[in-house]
Amino acid sequence: MKRVYNFSAGPAVLPEEVLKEAQEEMMNYRGCGMSVMEMSHRSAMFKEIIDEAEADLRELMGIPDNYKVLFLQGGAALHFATIPMNLMKNGVADYIVTGQWAKKAYVEAQKYGKVNKIATSEDKTFSYIPDCSDLPVSEDADYVYICQNNTIYGTTYHTLPNTKGKTLVADVSSCFLAGPIDVEKYGVIYGGVQKNIGPAGVQIVIIREDLLRDDLPAYVPTMLNLKVQADNGSMYNTPPCYGIYICGKVFKWIKSIGGLEAMQKRNEEKAAILYDYLDNNSMFRGTVVKKDRSLMNVPFIIGDKDLEAKFVSEAKAAGFENLKGHRTVGGMRASIYNAMPIEGVKALVEFMKKFEKENAANPG
Ligand SMILES: *Cc1c(COP(=O)(O)O)cnc(C)c1O
Repeated sequence: MKRVYNFSAGPAVLPEEVLKEAQEEMMNYRGCGMSVMEMSHRSAMFKEIIDEAEADLRELMGIPDNYKVLFLQGGAALHFATIPMNLMKNGVADYIVTGQWAKKAYVEAQKYGKVNKIATSEDKTFSYIPDCSDLPVSEDADYVYICQNNTIYGTTYHTLPNTKGKTLVADVSSCFLAGPIDVEKYGVIYGGVQKNIGPAGVQIVIIREDLLRDDLPAYVPTMLNLKVQADNGSMYNTPPCYGIYICGKVFKWIKSIGGLEAMQKRNEEKAAILYDYLDNNSMFRGTVVKKDRSLMNVPFIIGDKDLEAKFVSEAKAAGFENLKGHRTVGGMRASIYNAMPIEGVKALVEFMKKFEKENAANPG
C-alpha cells in the first residue's frame, strides 16, 4: 500500500520507523502478551515506558533538574486556561498576539485576571513577528506569553522576546523538538504533540518547579492543578498511555538521527528547498515576512482562487495531501514537520514546477 506525502498541519505525519515498530508491538508488547493499549497504567511495564519517555525528552532538550515534565490531556487549547489558573498570582499577564492560537489564549486568560496585549501583528494579518526587544512589560505581570511558532500563519520567533525578567510562557505545539532550545529561558514550555511529536491526545508541559503552587484558587479543577499533576508523576488519573508510548518512540527516533541539532539541520534544509522555489518562480509566493518564516509551516498563494483550488486538487491526485490553507486564510500551506522526509519536499517542488509550466498565463 502506497503512503502519501502528508502536509497536514496536525494531526500530522509521523516517522514510518515509529509506525512500523508500533505495528510490530501491537498485539504483544515485548512478550508481555498484551498491547500497550490494554496495560494498566500502574504496571511496571508502563512505568518503564513513561519513565523512559521522560528521560529521553530530558536528554534531547537538555531539561534541567529543576523543571518538571508532565504528560497531560486536554490539548493545547485547555492549557490556554490552565496557564493563567496556575500562574496568575498577581492576577496579571502580558500576551503577545501573533496569530489565532495566541489570540485564543489571550481571550481565554481574560476569564482569570487582567490581561494586557503588549504587542500584536494583527494589523498585517499576522504575517510577521513584532519587534519584542523593548515591550511595555507590566511591572506586576506574572508572566509574558507567546505562541512560538504560528501554525496557521507560518511565522516563528527566531529571537525570544525581552520579557524584562518576567517568566516566559511558550506554546510550542507546532515547533516542539524542531531544534534545540534553551529551556532555562522559559518558565513554561508546553504544547499538544499532534503537530510534531505524536498522536493527538497528549500534551507535554515543561514547567520550572518554583512556579508550582499550593495556594491555587479553590475553583481550579484538580486535574488542571499542575502541582498535583507534578506530585503524581502525570498519574493523578489515567494518562494517555498509548499516545505517550508513541511519543517515546519518536524521542528515540530523533535521538537515532543525531538529536535536536541534527533535526534542526534537516528542517533548515527542507524549508530552504521550498522557500527558494517560492522566491524564484512566477506563480507561487510566500505570504510572510522573510526573516520571520517558520521552518515548519509554509503558507503560500497564487492569488487566483480557481487556480489555487485546481492546484490543491491536482496535488492530492498526485499523492500530496492536505495542502489546502487554513480555512481562515485561504491559499495553500505545506506543513513540513520533523517527520516529513526531504524527498517529500523535493517532490512537492517538482510538482509545483510542473504545475507552474502547465498553467502559465501566456505560455511561450
Ligand atoms: C494546533 C495548535 C493548538 C491547539 O491544539 P489542540 O490540541 O487542538 O488544543 C494550539 N496552539 C498551537 C500553536 C497549535 O498549533
